[in-house]
Amino acid sequence: MLKIQCPKCNRSFFWTDEMPTQGKCPTPDCEWIYDIHKELGKNVAHHENKPKFKIYYCPFCQSEITSKITICSKCGHVVIGRKVLRKSYVFLAVCLILVLLSYILNLLVK
Ligand SMILES: [Zn+2]
Ligand SMILES: [Zn+2]
Repeated sequence: MLKIQCPKCNRSFFWTDEMPTQGKCPTPDCEWIYDIHKELGKNVAHHENKPKFKIYYCPFCQSEITSKITICSKCGHVVIGRKVLRKSYVFLAVCLILVLLSYILNLLVK
């Protein structure tokens, strides 16, 4: 089944496998002849013209995520590229970095 829009009368209709590959628009008084191969070609072209959004998936639960580095809204894991980190690990890492930074700052001040 394929949805075809007639360019003459602007009505759309459904082409089914039982219908001939070429034929008249089903609208009375409309003389437009459809060609299913052309319509199929249009559909393919239309599909290719679609902007390609990159979709990322959470490596842990496979749900869609908005960017490469994010926190998955479903499982709550921190996603960095193809890796997942548990929130607690990240929290620990951040704590360690902060401790290190304060240590370095202390050294600099002295
Ligand atoms: Zn028509
Ligand atoms: Zn997830």
